[in-house]
Amino acid sequence: MSETLPIYVVGAGLGGVAAALGLARKGWSVRIIEATPELGVIGYGIQLGPNVFPMFRRLGVEEAVLKHAHFPPNILMLDALSAKDIVRIPTGERFLDRFKDPYVVIHRVDLHGVLLDAARAMPNVEILPSTEFASYENRADRVLINTTDGRQFEAAAVIGADGLGSAVRRQMVGEETPRPIGYVAHRTIVPMDQVSGDVGVDDVILWGGPGFHIVQYPLRNRSLFNIVAVFQTENIYERADEETYRRVLMETYASAHPRMIEMLKTMDLKRRWVIADRDPIRGWSDGRVALLGDAAHPTLQTFAQGACMAIEDAVVLAECIELSNGDFASAFKTYERARCLRTARIILESRHIWEFYHLRGIAAEVRNEACARQSEDDFFRCLAWIWDGVRPPKAVG
Ligand SMILES: Cc1cc2nc3c(=O)[nH]c(=O)nc-3n(C[C@H](O)[C@H](O)[C@H](O)COP(=O)(O)OP(=O)(O)OC[C@H]3O[C@@H](n4cnc5c(N)ncnc54)[C@H](O)[C@@H]3O)c2cc1C
Repeated sequence: MSETLPIYVVGAGLGGVAAALGLARKGWSVRIIEATPELGVIGYGIQLGPNVFPMFRRLGVEEAVLKHAHFPPNILMLDALSAKDIVRIPTGERFLDRFKDPYVVIHRVDLHGVLLDAARAMPNVEILPSTEFASYENRADRVLINTTDGRQFEAAAVIGADGLGSAVRRQMVGEETPRPIGYVAHRTIVPMDQVSGDVGVDDVILWGGPGFHIVQYPLRNRSLFNIVAVFQTENIYERADEETYRRVLMETYASAHPRMIEMLKTMDLKRRWVIADRDPIRGWSDGRVALLGDAAHPTLQTFAQGACMAIEDAVVLAECIELSNGDFASAFKTYERARCLRTARIILESRHIWEFYHLRGIAAEVRNEACARQSEDDFFRCLAWIWDGVRPPKAVG
């Protein structure tokens, strides 16, 4: 019976839509249920490592993604106090020779749009907005999905791609809250002509300072400028007006380089994100239900890889389901084996490098001196485990 039923994906984020597209391209009927009424309307910039491009090729969207991408000439980490280089990774010819694919930045709305357009173009994908997952019931030959407004759907299998606060995960592994780390983020996109001062607009730049950082890069053909300000605070859940947030921001970044202060002045402070991850776990599936993306392995954004991991998951999962001839429980075990340690390493090393970004005093000086001894090839070697990517179980397409 389950063969005639669709696979349901819970959550139309980047991971969910990529999973739906991957499965639909393999002939499955897929329905995505999404809690919000509108899809993909909120978004800031997103960095994409070379590891995600083989996944885009499998999904048939590489060309469309590249059309919207900006190719930064360098990825830099600068000292927030002195503006001196700590890490410089040029992303030109040598990078391409080594990693075969580029490092790009893109507006999240554009990336989401590319994936949604490709999914919507498939006759076997249906998207149901304003449909909030409440619970699942595993049966021998199918899964029942209950929504918060009392509807029930029958699915061959369910992919929980419902993000950091996943309700699918809650039912599967029990109640556990995400792990806040005492940092919050403000994100802004400003028109490029509002960017004053010499802020080096072409590159991806991370300014690392004592208990704070800023990430900056351009978007949409350099017409927009993306700024993320992240800092440590004792009041991570504080909800305040913009004026209060601005005062806190200026106090926190008081020691930062004047180029950073200039950027902070342009920030829209309406919204604040609490930075959190979760400990890595095993057990991403329960019968015909599996977790994907942030629902399975939410990470700090240190390596800018959360969405890349979700998209890798999507492609690997589609391959595993195809290889298992419809035995979902076994497909999900193979998928977890393929993905668990890689994503756990991203979570654990992200925590470690997070500290490295935010060192102060003599520890920061030691970091800077140690990095000054590293060559471009050394940095390539350090990051190769991420950027070399994955080989999904079966090589097709
Ligand atoms: C400040 C910041 C910067 C980042 N920068 C990068 C970067 O540069 N590169 C990168 O690769 N990653 C980055 N990330 C990480 C990335 O944003 C996430 O890892 C990625 O979006 C996860 O995708 P997802 O599809 O798993 O989950 P989400 O994007 O969270 O999508 C989950 C979807 O599920 C829906 N949903 C939730 N609950 C339900 C329910 N009960 N029923 C139905 N639908 C539901 C939500 O509405 C949402 O649409 C960053 C994260 C942060 C916070």
